[in-house]
Amino acid sequence: MTGPAPREPAAAAPVLRFAPSPNGRLHLGHAYSALLNADLARRMGGTCRLRIEDIDPVRSRPELTAAIVSDLAWLGLRYPEPVRHQSRHMDAYRAARDRLVAAGLAYPCFCSRGAIRAAASGEGAPRDPDGAPLYPGTCRALDPAEAAARRARPEPHTWRLDMARALAAAPGPHGYRTFDAEGRDTWATADPARWGDAVIARRDVPTSYHLAVVHDDAAEGISHVVRGRDLEAATDLHALLQRLLGLPSPAYHHHALILDAAGEKLAKSRGSTSLADLRAAGAAPADVRARLGFP
Ligand code: GLU
Repeated sequence: MTGPAPREPAAAAPVLRFAPSPNGRLHLGHAYSALLNADLARRMGGTCRLRIEDIDPVRSRPELTAAIVSDLAWLGLRYPEPVRHQSRHMDAYRAARDRLVAAGLAYPCFCSRGAIRAAASGEGAPRDPDGAPLYPGTCRALDPAEAAARRARPEPHTWRLDMARALAAAPGPHGYRTFDAEGRDTWATADPARWGDAVIARRDVPTSYHLAVVHDDAAEGISHVVRGRDLEAATDLHALLQRLLGLPSPAYHHHALILDAAGEKLAKSRGSTSLADLRAAGAAPADVRARLGFP
C-alpha cells in the first residue's frame, strides 16, 4: 500500500511591506508608496504588512505613529497584526551587529560628524550615493586594545562595516532581483563599495536604518520590497548585508517619486502637503487616490 502522494509545498504567497518612519505626518509621496504596495500585493495575491521604522529615539514620536495609522486607515488601507515597531527589536539588531563584529567585518568608530566632514572635505573628496563624504577610514586601523579601552570609558561610537573585508567575505558579482508592475523579473547589478565603510549601528541605538531593514525584511518574510527610487542606491548595500548575514534577499521595485509643483521631491521638512492638511481642507480619500492614479 502506498500512502497519499506527498504534496508539493504551496508556493508561498508574496509578502510586501510599507515601512514609514514616524518623524512627521504622511505626505502624498508616502500615500503613493502605501497605495502602490497595497495594489501590487492584491494583484500578486499576497499581503502587505505595516512596519513602523522608529529606531530614532529623538525624532520618532508615538503620537506620529498613531497619526500614520489613522491616515492610512482614512485612505482605506488596513494591515495585518501585529504591526512591527522597530524600537521593540533592538536586541535582535544588536545580535546582528555583533555577528558582523565577531566575523571581523565591523569596527567601532569614535569620529565625530564634524571630524569626518573636516577630513573628507575639499573639491574632489569622494561622496556616498546620498552625497555624504565617504568615511576616510580613520578608526579602521585603531589598535584593538585602544579601541576596547575607549569603548570601556565609555566613549560614544558608531559601528562601521569594513567594506574591503566585507567584499572579501562576499565577493562579487553583486546584485539583486527586481520586479516591475507587470510582475516581470529582472536583475540589477549592485556596487556596494560606493557606500564605503557604512554605519551599521549608530551611537544611540545598536542599529542603523540599513541593518534594521535587512533584518526585518527577513524576520517578516518579506518577498517583495516596493519603495521609492531615493532608496535604490541603498539596496546595493542591503544586498551585501543580506549575504554577510545569510539572509534571504527579496525582489525590489523602486518606484518614481511624487514631485511637488516645483519638480522637487516631497519632503516633510519642506512642509509638503500632508494627508492631514488635505483631510482638513475637505479632500476625500477618493480624491487622493485619483490624484495619485489609483482607482
Ligand atoms: N523608513 C523608510 C522611509 O520612511 C523606508 C524604508 C524602506 O522602505 O526600506 O523612508
